[in-house]
Amino acid sequence: MTHFDFVIAGGGLAGLSLASRLAETPAFDQHSILVVEQDAKARNDRTFSFWSNGPGPFDAAISRSWDRLRVAGPSGVQDLALGDYRYHTIRGLDFYRHAQQRLARHANVELRRGRVQRIDDGPDAATVVIDGEAITATWAFDSRPPRLADRTDDHRHTRLKLYFRGWEIETPTAAFDPGVATFMDFRAPQDGDVRFFYVLPFAPDRALVEYTLFTDQRLTREETEQAIVSYMQSTLGIDDFRVVAEEGGCLPITDASFARRLGQRVLAIGVNGGRIKPSTGYAFSRVQADSQAIVQSLLAHGHPFGLPAGPASYRWLDAVMLRVMRDHGELIAPAFAALFSRNPTARILRFLDEQASPLDVLAIMASLPAPLFVGTALELAAGRMGRETERGKEGKGGMRPRKLRPA
Ligand SMILES: Cc1cc2nc3c(=O)[nH]c(=O)nc-3n(C[C@H](O)[C@H](O)[C@H](O)COP(=O)(O)OP(=O)(O)OC[C@H]3O[C@@H](n4cnc5c(N)ncnc54)[C@H](O)[C@@H]3O)c2cc1C
Repeated sequence: MTHFDFVIAGGGLAGLSLASRLAETPAFDQHSILVVEQDAKARNDRTFSFWSNGPGPFDAAISRSWDRLRVAGPSGVQDLALGDYRYHTIRGLDFYRHAQQRLARHANVELRRGRVQRIDDGPDAATVVIDGEAITATWAFDSRPPRLADRTDDHRHTRLKLYFRGWEIETPTAAFDPGVATFMDFRAPQDGDVRFFYVLPFAPDRALVEYTLFTDQRLTREETEQAIVSYMQSTLGIDDFRVVAEEGGCLPITDASFARRLGQRVLAIGVNGGRIKPSTGYAFSRVQADSQAIVQSLLAHGHPFGLPAGPASYRWLDAVMLRVMRDHGELIAPAFAALFSRNPTARILRFLDEQASPLDVLAIMASLPAPLFVGTALELAAGRMGRETERGKEGKGGMRPRKLRPA
């Protein structure tokens, strides 16, 4: 059987980020690395945005950066200076090509097109079955999409779907200010969910307009596309536009913990390893930090499992936020408006990065509607301690009281 030191299932964001980190670590020069990806990755299937206040490993692939962000809602529009931070965008296709080209420079790396059918754990090696061929790996990393369908612990945890639907559009005349990216614009019918748009203006006549929703409903493509048309026309006042590219997807979002260690030789990475922040849907920076932590663990311990768990307080805050989103989605827009008007943006970004000081956290908490979050936190705590609330009892069977939706 062919053997590799590292086999990575999936060559998307997490797989390619980890492969690059491993390949560029001199101590692993003589280690064989295989990345198995089922897709050609020849399409711009998503656009990665993230903020940072320092250099990152994929800066060379950044297509646009902004030093101002816009947050908008029914109560008004705020343009926010980012201080030391910049908001960056990398087109998915640029990321895949850039990472693949970097990996191609390393003789110890193989990028293989194929479908991983199974990963079987073992004491000394994992067996990875790719299109019927079994190979062994000292360490296997699994970024295939997670399967969460059979969870029945809704009274303890919240499960939502995160939809993305984006159109890159061109307009015949200038319609966008390329100096400011719209981070969140809640001026859209919320329908009991959390629904917002983000707009990445690449030029005065070109932007990516993306509809994003945290919901427990199932939406059709037509519904999401109709929402973009309405937003363009009624909020941005743009009637005349041409769609030049599109992207989209739906990810499971939950505060339930994801198993990282899938066996003695297998680690889950990316969305499959819970690297998406449940309350924001951002994963890019967390995936980079995780790749770095995996390499450090391999170097320090000889295994990839010595990963920081992250502060428990933030996991709890994510859980509360997700429950508020599920049960009181319509209150998120005013809460975000208050958050951004009462805090410097850099403090909010540090908080979302889970790097805020205790004083920062207190200031953030003080700017949110306390009764809503405290009430939800207590309800969640009661559910987790087994004292199921009425909602929890119904939630256990996968059902819960429907939110009131506009007729
Ligand atoms: C449209 C969209 C926009 C997003 N925008 C942002 C953003 O702006 N900022 C941000 O931080 N996050 C964003 N995200 C969230 C997150 O960063 C992405 O979903 C990211 O791609 C997750 O990385 P991943 O490696 O876990 O999954 P993926 O990038 O999806 O990679 C998994 C790979 O595994 C492959 N695969 C699956 N099954 C197999 C198999 N059996 N064998 C071989 N290969 C397999 C897939 O083809 C895929 O390439 C966005 C997500 C979407 C869908």
